[in-house]
Amino acid sequence: MYQEILKQLQPTHTKLVAVSKTKPLPAIQTLYEQGQRIFGESKAQELSGKFEALPKDIEWHMIGHLQRNKVKYIAPFVALIHSVDSARLLSEINKQGEKANRVIDCLLQFHIAEEASKFGFTAESAQALLSSAGFSDMKHIRIVGVMGMATYTEEHQQIRKEFQCLRSIFEQLKNQFFADAAFFQEISMGMSGDYLLAIEEGATMVRIGSLLFGKREYQSD
Ligand SMILES: *Cc1c(COP(=O)(O)O)cnc(C)c1O
Repeated sequence: MYQEILKQLQPTHTKLVAVSKTKPLPAIQTLYEQGQRIFGESKAQELSGKFEALPKDIEWHMIGHLQRNKVKYIAPFVALIHSVDSARLLSEINKQGEKANRVIDCLLQFHIAEEASKFGFTAESAQALLSSAGFSDMKHIRIVGVMGMATYTEEHQQIRKEFQCLRSIFEQLKNQFFADAAFFQEISMGMSGDYLLAIEEGATMVRIGSLLFGKREYQSD
């Protein structure tokens, strides 16, 4: 399955985040040996434990809802936080980035799904954040793009519409705030069930778990 997915991502140069949450170290090691270097986790402590135990050239991505008091566990090493869903969280990431003496790359997570339970910014709340004085003072974070999760449904048109919505938010923010910033270039969308649609709608990163590792025993997040 891994090779097949890589082939599907190749024409658009879409990056694969292998979502290894709840999966044991040997399963990750096996995929690592096949060449995978980007792994995503949804809990801070699980992420830092796996970082300690596995090869140091792995790029670790945080993809799940992140509590502010957990940022300190991942700030020293995390490569990208996909799930920045509030100004207060971003401010804490900036603070911990300063302590760790680094700049932490982040994506703003947008609420694009129908379900009320998903976290995230609206286009308006993101614009307010990006125009604020507080934001321009944050020197230890860098916003490199956007992330979203589509509604869990079989309705392809619905999913497509939500991915298009995320892409248009991306374009809008790019024009308004990041026109000269080449680093603002990532659209993280698409999971095991909908990543092919996401690629068609312009995803630069897809986050795939169960299709690579098999079904999870318990739901993390
Ligand atoms: C678990 C998770 C995924 C991967 O889901 P699969 O359906 O197993 O591919 C992707 N993104 C986020 C934010 C997740 O929590």
